[in-house]
Amino acid sequence: MRQSNYLAPTMRDVPADADAISHQLMLRAGMMRQVAAGVYAYLPLAKRVIAKVEAIIREELDAIGAQELTLPTLHPAELWQKSGRWESMGDELIRLKDRHGRDFALGPTHEEVITTLIQDGIASYKKLPLNVYQIQTKYRDERRPRFGLLRGREFIMKDAYSFHDTEESLDETYWEMHAAYTRIFKRVGLEFRPVIADSGAIGGKDTHEFMALASVGEDTIAYSDGSDYAANIEMAATKAPEPVSAQDHAQLEKKPTPNAKTVADAAEALGMQNNEILKALVVKLDDELTMLLLRGDDELNEVKAGHELGAKELVMASEEEILEAFGATPGSLGPVGVKDVKIYADYAIQGMNRIACGANETNYHYIGVGPGRDYSVTEYKDLRFIQAGDASPDGQGTIQFAEGIEVGQVFKVGTGYSEALGAQFLDQNGKAKPFYMGCYGIGVSRTVSAVIEQFHDENGIQWPAPVAPYHVHLLCLNVKNEEQMQLSEHLYETLKKNRVEVFYDDRAERAGVKFKDADLIGLPIRVSVGKRAGESMVEVKLRTTGEQHDVHVDDLIAFIEAQLTK
Ligand code: ATP
Ligand code: MG
Repeated sequence: MRQSNYLAPTMRDVPADADAISHQLMLRAGMMRQVAAGVYAYLPLAKRVIAKVEAIIREELDAIGAQELTLPTLHPAELWQKSGRWESMGDELIRLKDRHGRDFALGPTHEEVITTLIQDGIASYKKLPLNVYQIQTKYRDERRPRFGLLRGREFIMKDAYSFHDTEESLDETYWEMHAAYTRIFKRVGLEFRPVIADSGAIGGKDTHEFMALASVGEDTIAYSDGSDYAANIEMAATKAPEPVSAQDHAQLEKKPTPNAKTVADAAEALGMQNNEILKALVVKLDDELTMLLLRGDDELNEVKAGHELGAKELVMASEEEILEAFGATPGSLGPVGVKDVKIYADYAIQGMNRIACGANETNYHYIGVGPGRDYSVTEYKDLRFIQAGDASPDGQGTIQFAEGIEVGQVFKVGTGYSEALGAQFLDQNGKAKPFYMGCYGIGVSRTVSAVIEQFHDENGIQWPAPVAPYHVHLLCLNVKNEEQMQLSEHLYETLKKNRVEVFYDDRAERAGVKFKDADLIGLPIRVSVGKRAGESMVEVKLRTTGEQHDVHVDDLIAFIEAQLTK
């Protein structure tokens, strides 16, 4: 493709409102332009990268027997009302009305549409399992669209849905999809990890997120340095650490802790360490006021605690609710003397026999508090956030943290949607049963950004060859020079004939401008036709390593092919 009339408007300056490096580079490399917040036009270079990611996805999914289809973007409200998500999706669902005043939504995901469709299309167990997918634009009115394609309001997703007669069959397809995702992200070139994840509002059981490692990532991954264990920090289980050594203070004693709002304030007033103090938090578990106890240096993991305690909803109680129920401000709470309220304590405080805690009297704490004697716990549970340096939950190695971008998720949904939407099949005995269902998503446009987050330097993008918009950037350094122009035109035709994907800078620009743009756009191989054109010599530079070679034009194709198959 000739660059002289190509729609790739490169920019020198870093756009002020783009925080993520991938966002900056996609704008600067002329790959996209913003049309509204979180809504972008993909220009030709971006379109080619997207097409390559999509092609890899199609190959890997087709190979395991998944079938591509296209579902509508416009969804009648009734489907979403049936599943309950017309309400629960809230403002994220983009809603509109047709000319008759009927409600519709723009699809943020397609469980409702596909489940309704499958129930009509399939009546028998003989057709199962079934695995279908589509690659399509999705709409979510995100609260904070940001980082360019990483969090858009209009974005491209590959979504797949599988239907089964048994849980075992779902399990099998789930792991097939897990393996296919692993192959897809490997082929794309990403450094990533599948991590144990939260199943969120949809319910269901097993779920893994595929996380591309990058500092801009909004998720924290807890992984072991001694095994394959990796989990979203929201889900990382913890083991009870060694109990902190007991205090020698045997008697319960009340001490003033003026203005203590945090554990650290109380520790200072008492002359103790944070980990010798109980952190008492009051939450509402499905509306029931409940006290949670953690060690003072730990933080509550609300997602995990919600699961552990079997609550649909866990929210922090307000200061007024706390004052009314306990007669003290949140900084002075503790379990001593608490009645009629369930108390769940984190494993980390099991076995700590003398400890300090709030006295349920504003600005006072107890010291020398003993479990059993001074307070009792309804049950010990895994409530805290895992910390870097903790033992890995699988017993091998210690926990480290990394930031990740969720590029995909696989999900065993179970029968939730099938039951809500009445999606049934007939089994061998002609009995109607709800389908078991799996859902699988890949953020296609987000993946493109994630690749750039991982592959760039201060001058621009460094595309991995499998998803590079073109493989070779051919530069004619001086288009006014007859010799250079002729050789460039000849090489352009030769490369095309040899099926090398070539982007040809035939613009009447200075060499310096061309080099800068080439670095910015970041194609893997740069071929410059310059002063040695008369000797049939060109300069080849590899974008990632910076390696340079003078190559004779007769050897050029072989040289390029060798580089691309490395
Ligand atoms: P997130 O937690 O980042 O909001 P999600 O868990 O809500 O994402 P899913 O419903 O699992 O997203 O969607 C499947 C995939 O679609 C995600 O793994 C992600 O890669 C991609 N995706 C989701 N929301 C967006 C968005 N706003 N912009 C770009 N890609 C997105
Ligand atoms: Mg997800």
